[in-house]
Amino acid sequence: MERTDLEFFRKILVQQKDELLRKGLCVFSDLREKESNLTDPLDMAADYTHQSCTLQICDRERRFLKNVTDALELIKSGEYGYCETCGEEILLARLKVQPVTRHCLECKINLEKREKTTFYSASITTHRMEADCE
Ligand SMILES: [Zn+2]
Repeated sequence: MERTDLEFFRKILVQQKDELLRKGLCVFSDLREKESNLTDPLDMAADYTHQSCTLQICDRERRFLKNVTDALELIKSGEYGYCETCGEEILLARLKVQPVTRHCLECKINLEKREKTTFYSASITTHRMEADCE
């Protein structure tokens, strides 16, 4: 990959990382505020639902953050932009849509097909979340 392209993706990834970290901090301070003085069981239940929801988002973002960090490491080591499975260069157009991707489109499709047959019973939600985060 061209140096200028690498720099382009590095900038996007650094920006995404910053954003995630900022958002992550918001989620955590939000949770702290929620350690509140709720005594009504109904309020507490509602609060609990809200919290587990926040935690789920948090978990998803943590995973995405890891992917972003990994991608930045790959840029540093010069291995960014290559498919983990077949070793081919990933198309720039694909990377522009999904900078953290580690597979070329073909391998990703094959991978998803395999996942679908192997983990057929796995929940669609989980699958969707992963597709989102790559
Ligand atoms: Zn591939």
